[in-house]
Amino acid sequence: MAIISSKKTSKSAQQGELLSKTASPSVDSATCPAAATESLLQPKAAGDERSSKHDEKLRPQQLGDYVGQKELKEVLQIAIQAAQSRKEALDHLLLYGPPGLGKTTIALILSAEMGVNCKVTSAPALERPRDIVGLLMNLQPGDVLFIDEIHRLNRMTEELLYPAMEDFRLDIVTGKNQTAKTRSIPLPPFTLVGATTRVGALSSPLRDRFGFIQRLRFYEPDELSQIVLRTAEILHTAIVPDAATEVARRSRGTPRIANRLLKRVRDYAEVKGVGAVTQAIATEALELFNVDPCGLDWTDRRLLTVMIEHFNGGPVGLETMAAATGEDAQTIEEVYEPYLLQIGYLNRTPRGRIATPAAWKHLGYQPPEHQISLLH
Ligand code: ADP
Repeated sequence: MAIISSKKTSKSAQQGELLSKTASPSVDSATCPAAATESLLQPKAAGDERSSKHDEKLRPQQLGDYVGQKELKEVLQIAIQAAQSRKEALDHLLLYGPPGLGKTTIALILSAEMGVNCKVTSAPALERPRDIVGLLMNLQPGDVLFIDEIHRLNRMTEELLYPAMEDFRLDIVTGKNQTAKTRSIPLPPFTLVGATTRVGALSSPLRDRFGFIQRLRFYEPDELSQIVLRTAEILHTAIVPDAATEVARRSRGTPRIANRLLKRVRDYAEVKGVGAVTQAIATEALELFNVDPCGLDWTDRRLLTVMIEHFNGGPVGLETMAAATGEDAQTIEEVYEPYLLQIGYLNRTPRGRIATPAAWKHLGYQPPEHQISLLH
């Protein structure tokens, strides 16, 4: 994994130190259309996408450029101003929400706004105690330490973090049994930004040590349109607003997907030799890539189709769905369901998941009467 390192001392400094990111396998889109669509609409980033310099250019670098998430921005604006006026580090911040919504971007913006370094890592990379110790000991006063997938920290690392977060102190135990001694090493004040898709999976002692716990929401189509227009400008791609709306509509509420779809539309427009991307060109390109008008991908459609065809629309339990589709239950719950719930195609009831009448209609099925009454 590439290591990008740079000292952040000004607002324009933008790139953190990318210590580790999860990679996912690439898919041959020419030979596998379903998988190609799946990868285009996957909110999880491919490893190269997250770390590529090109994509880093697309990240907003100041809070003012960060589109949407109004509430979160207001909270952060106040926190930044207060910390700056007191000349203190920002309080620790926990961000949660589905992948691709801008959690890493927020950590990088915070460090840029505060004029400090940002070290970026993820919990699976912090396997041994010395991994976290090394990171903490190298922090400068005020630095931001970003830990992605923080719900996956192991117990020892988590326990080292408690005094570090609370008292800016590392407690290191040396020796064994009766000769064991605890040595306390002072740390500079720093800000831990944790990101997770599963806030409920965090232990409460860890959760309680965050001063702010903020949720990121799916973006509205007009916000995604703004993101598409902004990215198009950075990529020097001419695009009309209606085409940006078309891309936004199919991006499942997720900026990472919006940017990815825009790039495919740009390729298509370039190869076709058209000038500015129009709505017709965007639609043609996205249809070629099998991108659903509602942003559903192959797995979303399969989940709903299995519910409808095998379970008459539900209620069906998560584990049963996982077994019937061959998908991992956790992935269904964390990656697929949030968007299906958001657009009203899925409901969670005490008896299990239900495909709503809107989902039946979208997939070309006639919803049965009992399905409609189950939801009331
Ligand atoms: P996460 O950490 O939640 O998986 P990232 O912060 O890596 O998501 O964001 C994915 C991409 O989406 C970034 O490269 C950035 O370009 C874009 N992005 C995310 N949020 C926004 C936003 N609010 N405004 C503009 N672009 C955004």
